[in-house]
Amino acid sequence: MSPMVLADRVCKSFGALQVLKGISLEVERGEVTCLIGPSGSGKSTFLRCVNHLESVTAGRLYVDDDLIGYREKGGKLYELSAKDAAAQRRDIGMVFQHFNLFPHRTALDNIIEAPIQVKGVVRARAVERGKDLLDQVGLADKASAYPAQLSGGQQQRVAIARALAMDPKLMLFDEPTSALDPELVGDVLAVMRNLAKDGMTMVVVTHEMGFAREVADQLVFMDAGKVVEKGDPREVLNSPQHERTQSFLSKLL
Ligand code: ADP
Ligand code: MG
Repeated sequence: MSPMVLADRVCKSFGALQVLKGISLEVERGEVTCLIGPSGSGKSTFLRCVNHLESVTAGRLYVDDDLIGYREKGGKLYELSAKDAAAQRRDIGMVFQHFNLFPHRTALDNIIEAPIQVKGVVRARAVERGKDLLDQVGLADKASAYPAQLSGGQQQRVAIARALAMDPKLMLFDEPTSALDPELVGDVLAVMRNLAKDGMTMVVVTHEMGFAREVADQLVFMDAGKVVEKGDPREVLNSPQHERTQSFLSKLL
């Protein structure tokens, strides 16, 4: 079977600044890939390319065999219309460091918004599913709470439930626990661990090496816009082959 994500020499520049310098990697279906690397190495930019928040400037990026952002015809690439791009994005869930919940909506309303507005799910169905999802992330009793009434960890779990409400085939996490107080990190990681166990395909940018070691099927180390090293997480963490990986990991300990 083809991989869920296939990046083939993906490049991204902002003006003269080349941020991604030929990223090639694969994320297999039902597997978890953790992406690590120093600040500024291009991890967020890569996720944003996968999720259409940025467009690739060279190379090819496929999700579920769909070329992201472009249509290929007669050897030429044509940018997708906004409508076609939106259709591709619908199946990709993304969770950000800073939750990005609607502040004036309850937890449940945050979750049901997109299924109703984007997918046309009838309200009663969306509410039923929303409540199930809140239960799944351990927040069954918080349906009518507003974001400001929730801890950071609870807000992040609502954000995960919100992404899941669209029934994504792929979930992207960009440092989902980096903004949280240490005692709140565990609950969020536990939700992600369960998702992985249930077979969700996930790409996770994280500094949580324990999570990477235990949950990831693949660990990718990026530096300065390149994949320096990738492989089995235990192998990469226990015996990194490249000096840059060694140096990065030694600073984390
Ligand atoms: P990471 O997530 O690994 O910390 P980023 O992908 O956020 O790295 O950033 C990689 C580089 O790209 C940084 O030098 C950053 O300043 C630059 N960059 C990111 N987004 C933009 C943008 N929209 N315009 C210009 N430069 C950007
Ligand atoms: Mg980042």
